[in-house]
Amino acid sequence: MPGIEASLRAVRARMGAAERENGRAAGSAGLLAVSKTVPPAGLREAWEAGQRAFGESYVQEALDKFAALADLPIEWHFIGPLQSNKTRPVAANFAWVHSVDRLKIAQRLSEQRDVHLPPLNVCVQVNVSGEASKSGVAPDEARALVEAVAVLPRLRLRGLMCIPEPSNDALVIRARFALLRSLRDDLNAALGLDMDTLSMGMSDDMEMAIAEGATLVRVGSAIFGERPAA
Ligand SMILES: *Cc1c(COP(=O)(O)O)cnc(C)c1O
Repeated sequence: MPGIEASLRAVRARMGAAERENGRAAGSAGLLAVSKTVPPAGLREAWEAGQRAFGESYVQEALDKFAALADLPIEWHFIGPLQSNKTRPVAANFAWVHSVDRLKIAQRLSEQRDVHLPPLNVCVQVNVSGEASKSGVAPDEARALVEAVAVLPRLRLRGLMCIPEPSNDALVIRARFALLRSLRDDLNAALGLDMDTLSMGMSDDMEMAIAEGATLVRVGSAIFGERPAA
């Protein structure tokens, strides 16, 4: 495994190639470095290589990293499953939450977001894989949730997020990404919203996600190496 700096460069090159091949502007897809299970020194190395946005999945692990990396103005994104008793530290410390999948969570995040902080950027997580997956709101229930989240005062609804179930068939994965995009476009039109974010694509499928319009890919192992088995 090459070092973090070289891996980041390789990921950025893959993203740039995918942007070009799909006629997209350079830099129109952003990179979220998914740093769950990575010790603070690894994030520091990525920061020194120019990475600014990091994604964490576990609240306690993230709190430990905030302390260890307090000298860096990192843009923190929460991307994991969120229980309602854990929303307070998330509302206090993160710039983004990608994994809003029910109204109660969104309401708590809005109530708990300090008025002196900018609004918390949020994405609604959509279950694009049907029966195969449990996290995320079903596509046919996304409209009601998006409509309700959009008016919460301390949140800024930025878009939709998905994690397709793994499949050996690239066309299946690509169709999931296409579904998220059309859902975002349809909801923007139907509700008069301006959701600008599609959070989709990971280490193995970022090119397909960029082909389908991803604005933020969430990449972990291609930057930091394989994670220990959970
Ligand atoms: C772990 C994780 C990723 C990154 O996955 P890789 O395959 O390591 O790139 C992306 N999104 C979410 C929600 C994750 O939990």
